[in-house]
Amino acid sequence: MARLVMKFGGTSVADLDRIRNVARHVKREVEAGYEVAVVVSAMAGVTNQLVAWCRDAAMLHDAREYDAVVATGEEVTAGLLAIVLEGMGVNARSWQGWQLPILTDNAHGSARILDVNGAELIRRFREQQQVAVIAGFQGLHKDTGRVTTLGRGGSDTSAVAIAAAIQAARCDIYTDVDGVYTTDPRIVPKARRLDKIAYEEMLELASLGAKVMQVRSVELGMMHNVPIFVRSSFEKPEDIDPSKRPSGTLICDESEIMEEQIVTGIAYSKDEAQISIRRVQDKPGVAAAIFGPLADANINVDMIVQNVSADGQTTDLTFTVPSADYERARDTIAKAKSAIGFDRVDGATDVAKVSVIGIGMRSHAGVAAKAFKALAERNINIRAITTSEIKFSVLIDAAYSELAVRTLHTLYGLDKS
Ligand code: ADP
Ligand code: ASP
Ligand code: MG
Repeated sequence: MARLVMKFGGTSVADLDRIRNVARHVKREVEAGYEVAVVVSAMAGVTNQLVAWCRDAAMLHDAREYDAVVATGEEVTAGLLAIVLEGMGVNARSWQGWQLPILTDNAHGSARILDVNGAELIRRFREQQQVAVIAGFQGLHKDTGRVTTLGRGGSDTSAVAIAAAIQAARCDIYTDVDGVYTTDPRIVPKARRLDKIAYEEMLELASLGAKVMQVRSVELGMMHNVPIFVRSSFEKPEDIDPSKRPSGTLICDESEIMEEQIVTGIAYSKDEAQISIRRVQDKPGVAAAIFGPLADANINVDMIVQNVSADGQTTDLTFTVPSADYERARDTIAKAKSAIGFDRVDGATDVAKVSVIGIGMRSHAGVAAKAFKALAERNINIRAITTSEIKFSVLIDAAYSELAVRTLHTLYGLDKS
């Protein structure tokens, strides 16, 4: 019998009515003959509340206790869904991460899954036709046995990891939109739903700001070749015609995608900050003197631009860091001042990174140049640029991010007709 993983996000399990709706979706798949593992998120808003309580308790708290607290949201949903399923005559039981177990490393707050034991789930599918309802987002550190969590949005990753472990035919991600769009449909009403998207493109979209899937989940899907189908939980189970392909987006291997498009999607992120070091001495070793200490401080540098200073003698170095690390990065640079040698540091947190993604860029030249022209025509100033094989990003003033996304969306022919 084919196996299926069904994952439901926070809004999809926001209250008991929605949980009952989820249970009917599960029942539908059980009746269609699938062995089903369900992965659930915390009810909408719950994780935020738990995080806020940890901060209120102590601004600087033990990350292991943070995990002990925030992992509980998913446990409530898993238990409730199992109760509702049982009430509907579907044999089900809930599972917490430690009970399978789902083993992780010890990076509390953003742990990586190392191993998922699916053996007991499979035995129960076979012997008892039992549906497994698994708390997403959580695991267990392989040595200490302490509860870990996988980072915000981590239930997606739980779902894909479990799909790989039980060799599921597919991992369905049920959410509050009916698929992956060319850009965030909440920002651009003209965004179009994609029928299919390649793992690599989804990986870029997710890393560059589209929060519909957690980055790590796409990585795992690509590694284990798990077909991931993003679809809406708001579609009524009764309205689904099993003989038709439901509306949604399949995240799959590039080779399965026929119609080649140059640009597939646009992402944006306001989680970055800009730092500019003015009048840096232009000599060998300076970049190492700047970026070495930042790396030692575990600060991820993303975009880097170097240009000649106003005086023509020295150089200006601009780069971006996650906004959460902005103060720490400025501190690190200030401490390294004598080793680097510069005049002053400027910074900005009201910036946004807008990124254009598409596998077609590999074989088409001039894709980015078109964007620079269109943004200039809108008077949008570009502070920094980065490019790679299948994407490019521009850093602009945050106030223009929506205008920039809409402009580029139209420019690359992504608007729905
Ligand atoms: P869940 O709680 O189900 O995990 P999330 O809120 O994490 O749901 O992710 C779904 C949201 O992702 C959507 O409501 C949408 O606003 C946002 N989103 C951002 N970019 C995209 C995109 N390109 N396609 C679809 N949704 C997107
Ligand atoms: N509940 C967690 C969060 O809000 C995990 C998830 O929903 O995927 O981040
Ligand atoms: Mg999510």
